[in-house]
Amino acid sequence: MKKKMKKTLFHRAGAVGMAVLMLALCLCACEPAGRESSCEAAVKIVTTIFPAYDFAREVGKDFADVSMLLKPGTESHSYDPSPQDMIRIRSCDLFIYVGGESDEWVRDLLSSGQQPKRVIALMDCVETVKEETVEGMTPEEEEGEEEEYDEHVWTSPKNAEKIVEKITQTLLELAPEKKETIRKNSDALGKELEKIDASFQEVVEKAARKTLVFGDRFPFRYFADAYGLTYYAAFPGCSAETEPSASTIGFLIDKVRSEKIPVVFTIEFSSGKVADTICESTGAKKLEFHSCHNVSKEAFEQGVTYVQLMQKNVEHLKEALS
Ligand SMILES: [Zn+2]
Repeated sequence: MKKKMKKTLFHRAGAVGMAVLMLALCLCACEPAGRESSCEAAVKIVTTIFPAYDFAREVGKDFADVSMLLKPGTESHSYDPSPQDMIRIRSCDLFIYVGGESDEWVRDLLSSGQQPKRVIALMDCVETVKEETVEGMTPEEEEGEEEEYDEHVWTSPKNAEKIVEKITQTLLELAPEKKETIRKNSDALGKELEKIDASFQEVVEKAARKTLVFGDRFPFRYFADAYGLTYYAAFPGCSAETEPSASTIGFLIDKVRSEKIPVVFTIEFSSGKVADTICESTGAKKLEFHSCHNVSKEAFEQGVTYVQLMQKNVEHLKEALS
């Protein structure tokens, strides 16, 4: 249902996009020659979601012009590209997107018309696994759908390192004259990611338990797998459902009670109502675990980074596994 709507929207947007694109190309060609040089100054990188934006901004620091299509503070799963967004993608040097179920519109866009110089799909940078529906979850109501690959690859810092390496290699090809800056930026970010990975590792090694409970969607399969954690949640990763079944609530409450789990997680931009219900009847504490899909407007303006969001996750994980 959700997908069909997206497709129609895209096709409509596609036709308009083409018209606007032609117009833009014409305008550009008519521009006085003197102005062109300022356009060419930076390597233009366009990304869909926040982690790609943040990694590209770090590796491209001091020479790249990086922008994110998703508006800060908005839910990434309901994103639809505007005609202007499509022009930005088609005319950039590097376009970075996730490559999963939510990005089906990209396939159509990249199959015809003007293309960005380079394209990176985050899912192509790592080994992917299928999205899982574990015991207790309220499954998505999409009948007859086959299992999809889980697209939340960036939630594991180890995967983030691989993604950064791919961005680094691509920027080295696009801007070889910036080799030293790219290497320096990339090494600095790589070290930060290694530190985050080591912190998670340490928390898990010293932990009293290995089970997470999310009164929410669970877009953290790669994260849980990386650190050997077991998880229970109200919904799978990209589920559009918001009302869990009574048996899901009952299952999660029993889980928290029987294992004396101290923290029930919720994710960013969620109402947190499911976690509240579980916490009210168990006495557990509600905490946020940030999936980094997107950040709030204020956080975006303050220049928050993936590493900072993950540092907070380390603190909250420590409490949850105590
Ligand atoms: Zn998602």
